[in-house]
Amino acid sequence: MPYKAWFECFNPECGSRYPLTEIAYNCNKCGSLLQVTHDTDVIAKTSAAQWMRLFDERKRRNTWPYGSGVWKLKEWVCPEVADENIVSMYEGESNLFWADRLGSTIGLPDLWIKLCGNSHTGSFKDLGMTVLVSMVKQIMADGGDIRAVACASTGDTSAALAAYCAAANIQSIVFLPRDKVTPEQLIQPIANGALVLALDTDFDGCMEIVQKVTADNTIYLANSKNSLRIEGQKTVSVEIVQQLDWQAPDVVVIPGGNLGNVSALGKGFLLMEKVGIISKRPRIVCAQAEKANPLYLYYKNGWRDYKPVQAQPTLASAIQIGQPVSLEKAVKILKDFNGIVEQASEQELADACARADKTGMYTCPHTGVALAALFKLVDRGEITSKDRVVVISTAHGLKFSHFKTEYHTQKIGSITSHYANLPIELPADADKVRSVIQERLAKKG
Ligand SMILES: *Cc1c(COP(=O)(O)O)cnc(C)c1O
Ligand SMILES: [Zn+2]
Repeated sequence: MPYKAWFECFNPECGSRYPLTEIAYNCNKCGSLLQVTHDTDVIAKTSAAQWMRLFDERKRRNTWPYGSGVWKLKEWVCPEVADENIVSMYEGESNLFWADRLGSTIGLPDLWIKLCGNSHTGSFKDLGMTVLVSMVKQIMADGGDIRAVACASTGDTSAALAAYCAAANIQSIVFLPRDKVTPEQLIQPIANGALVLALDTDFDGCMEIVQKVTADNTIYLANSKNSLRIEGQKTVSVEIVQQLDWQAPDVVVIPGGNLGNVSALGKGFLLMEKVGIISKRPRIVCAQAEKANPLYLYYKNGWRDYKPVQAQPTLASAIQIGQPVSLEKAVKILKDFNGIVEQASEQELADACARADKTGMYTCPHTGVALAALFKLVDRGEITSKDRVVVISTAHGLKFSHFKTEYHTQKIGSITSHYANLPIELPADADKVRSVIQERLAKKG
């Protein structure tokens, strides 16, 4: 097989390499993060036109494993896994739709939403997990001793890990911060047979424990520190460009917590640039919750004196992270993509969700963070009506219905629900019902 990829130390002064089948999360020599590096010279031997034709041919077909949005790009993602060891549920290929009504209310006629939550377990985490679990299956097939796969999670990684492990008959162990994930997110790994551990701490605390527990390598660590996941997640940028008839957008807005996904987004664009599929880079906007904003503070300080923060409770629970693992990767990508970091308060993210929902969406709070950041940047003129903008919607809103119920019933203590829409309770009396309808429709004008 001509295509090759390996783990490479993210510290350019070290540059140590390790095979993808080795169990490695940090560089053994210097301790830096690892990234998956591809032999891009081999990839670039095939022309951009040939790659685009191949990906168009494979898209959504059933020839194993290429119908998956991730494995459609197998040569770019993880050529090391044999097809029979791929664990896929045909993730990816989520819809990218023109949000013309929301866009027109904010003066952005060319606004698009990439609905990554329309996936097997309801979040973009599926894109990375298919690659990680496939590699685990490959290592086990090669005789490696892995007893289980574990992760710390804010709710979506655990759901994805549990589902993909169950499909492959591999035991999963998930570490969740107790009472900090939604009931939907909690039941997902339970239903899929994971060993579910609810710890009395937050995500950062779970992360510390899971790293200790996986130190002996017979329990494989599935956190986003594991750079195999980034390879699957980077397919989102290729998918967006393919869905836009192989054109890059001008701006992509993405919510960030542990910051793996923003790194992945940029990595996908860089590979397309290297191959010659795109010639311009979009601007990348990373949006953080104000309650968990270490990247935002670092950016505002001119990328000087980075300090982790103690993340505070936020409605955007999947990004309640104060010490993002992939910080360095994200900063590099943001510098390379003329990046912006913006933040959203609880009030702003909740109202942003409600505004989007009123135009037919059903947004998760993290997507609300991204939308609130977008609204601010449009107000400030940093994004203009000429820009083609894509907002990455990271999870399915149905995992967060409780948040919406609380919003519309005005039960979120710290905020005012400006767009609340309450049900009207009425007796079973046609005249009363008619008069209420008439009154309401008249009010709408
Ligand atoms: C994981 C997650 C994020 C954040 O992604 P990072 O890679 O941690 O920055 C955002 N939204 C949702 C719904 C998530 O599950
Ligand atoms: Zn190193």
